[in-house]
Amino acid sequence: MMGLTIRKAGIYPLVGTLVLLCGCSTHSGSPTPAKTSSVANTPSASTPAKETPTAEATPTAEAEAAPSKAAPSPSTSRSPDLTSPDSLTALVNKTHPLSPETYAPVDLVPFGGVYLRQEAAQAAEEMFAAASAEGIGITTLSGYRSYETQVGTYNSWVATYGQEQADVASARPGYSEHQTGLALDIGTGGACDLQVCFKDTDAARWAAAHAHEYGFVLRYPWWQHETTGYWYESWHFRYVGREEAAVFHRSGAPTLEDFWGVAP
Ligand SMILES: [Zn+2]
Repeated sequence: MMGLTIRKAGIYPLVGTLVLLCGCSTHSGSPTPAKTSSVANTPSASTPAKETPTAEATPTAEAEAAPSKAAPSPSTSRSPDLTSPDSLTALVNKTHPLSPETYAPVDLVPFGGVYLRQEAAQAAEEMFAAASAEGIGITTLSGYRSYETQVGTYNSWVATYGQEQADVASARPGYSEHQTGLALDIGTGGACDLQVCFKDTDAARWAAAHAHEYGFVLRYPWWQHETTGYWYESWHFRYVGREEAAVFHRSGAPTLEDFWGVAP
């Protein structure tokens, strides 16, 4: 499985390599909507929970969803595990490598020609289906990339441009979010794939507006490179789980680093 995985993932670094150069050029306006307003008030302190609810109380959805067994409590209550490599909230950036750096997920599954961890793949499938239902076609360009693949990618950057430039444009092995199996680069199959102009496609706009509903976060927003370490990538999404993504979205934080309190 390992061999297969590597071979499959090996196609993509080349594409990614070409792309990373394009963090330049001019953009007007921030394409990432920072909607924070409408969601804020959720009072939820409506009816005091007495022991014997009178006929009045109709907690609708809550009651329906409540399983009769001991609820496995979602526990995403603001103490995300940022360090375990298998954690959906593992923080990986240019200063926070995976540990161990050679980490490889054990639950990779194929999705759209790439590999993702199972939960991320399922969420992506639902996301793509939702987009498709609105007439928006989205394709996968890159998913999991192995440590070994990243070694090759990074070394070719170093050989061609020197280490300084390599560190700007590429990730060192063990420092790429794609190695978590939770990062997904999307495209349309068009000329703007992995280019700055991708941000103006229907696919990018739809994903920017809806990805959080499926547990994905736009990871490298416009002009956040000092925090994220990367130029704007309107195509790179990171799966963190639906609940985490929802809270992140409501928070209005520009990046996961800000949201998780680890911004430099
Ligand atoms: Zn990416």
